[in-house]
Amino acid sequence: MYQKGRAWIELDMKNLASNLEQLKSLLPPGCSIMPAVKANAYGHGEALIGKALQDMGIQDFCVASVKEAVQLREAGITGQILVLGYTSPQEFSELSHYELTQTVVDFSYAKQLQDYGRPLAVHVGVDTGMHRLGEPSGNIENICRMWEFEHLKIAGVFSHFCTADGVSDWEKACTYRQITKFDSVIRQLKERGISGFKTHIQGSYGILNYPKLRYDYVRPGIALYGVLSLPEDRTAAAVHLKPVLSLKARIACVKRLHRGESAGYGHTYTAEKEMKTAVVSIGYADGIPRGLSNKGQVLVNGHRAPVIGRVCMDQLLIDVSEIPRAEPGDEAVLIGKCQTEQITAGELACMTGTITNEILSRLGSRLERTETIKRKSEQ
Ligand SMILES: *Cc1c(COP(=O)(O)O)cnc(C)c1O
Repeated sequence: MYQKGRAWIELDMKNLASNLEQLKSLLPPGCSIMPAVKANAYGHGEALIGKALQDMGIQDFCVASVKEAVQLREAGITGQILVLGYTSPQEFSELSHYELTQTVVDFSYAKQLQDYGRPLAVHVGVDTGMHRLGEPSGNIENICRMWEFEHLKIAGVFSHFCTADGVSDWEKACTYRQITKFDSVIRQLKERGISGFKTHIQGSYGILNYPKLRYDYVRPGIALYGVLSLPEDRTAAAVHLKPVLSLKARIACVKRLHRGESAGYGHTYTAEKEMKTAVVSIGYADGIPRGLSNKGQVLVNGHRAPVIGRVCMDQLLIDVSEIPRAEPGDEAVLIGKCQTEQITAGELACMTGTITNEILSRLGSRLERTETIKRKSEQ
């Protein structure tokens, strides 16, 4: 078997298919999944994930930037690709050339898109309380006037939840206020004879906590990759998500650290006894948080090995004194399973005070990415 080199990501497409089915089973009939594959598919690899999902029957996708959209198109995605974020007017020609769909971030941006002078496919963003992108839902005149711009081919109207992950009363009330505002915009458009557009508002937590909403699309990201933003989150719908990604790296060398000797930048770790240490070929430039210095753990041959000293840009050190066999060339698992042990992306997120979304989306471009487990029907 071909052995991956320095540091790499393994993707389990069977788990991806299972997560997709789990989410689908929650949705009302007629609702389509438009996966969020921005930020290199949350670090997993945009082309690999996009193609795999397309093979599973997914047609439409959303990304954050026009560059991501172009890459996805060039990777062979044929359906609608919605750019959720801002695209500068210099890049409008890319939208048109690659047949991408742009978000209208507000009314003045609608004018800029119109001024491009050629047809552009768009979804209108509506701000229902997040106060990020979108024309404020109260400005119904502005929203309606967008249909008078003849170059805008308006295929959708959407909004975004800001507290759908929370299950407290105030968070639910906030979400229901957003739903009311969104529905009101849709109703007023229809009253004015405007139709023929799709609607969407839910990301992962919108699906998991409000599965009964009836819009045309949902835009799951994190849940599709088989994890929650915080491992302790409880959601209204019971689903069994399975992580798609494992992160591994090679042990470059194993050596002795004598009592009293210190290791790594700043000599922040000092051996209190005779130790065996290993150098793992992955660092913060690959997305391993530097905050795991003297704190994180790595799996080697089914055992947990503590990170010692500071995480470097390209390497990190671990204590393998207690691990019976640990040799150069062995695999170290940073995220994933190794025999009976497992380290989750959520565990790294908790240790470094962030969410799994950040841990995964920052996994670097130097990592090799491969499918190790294919979908069932391909086996
Ligand atoms: C990132 C993003 C999503 C996906 O969010 P998850 O919480 O990862 O499911 C959906 N919609 C918008 C507008 C986003 O920016």
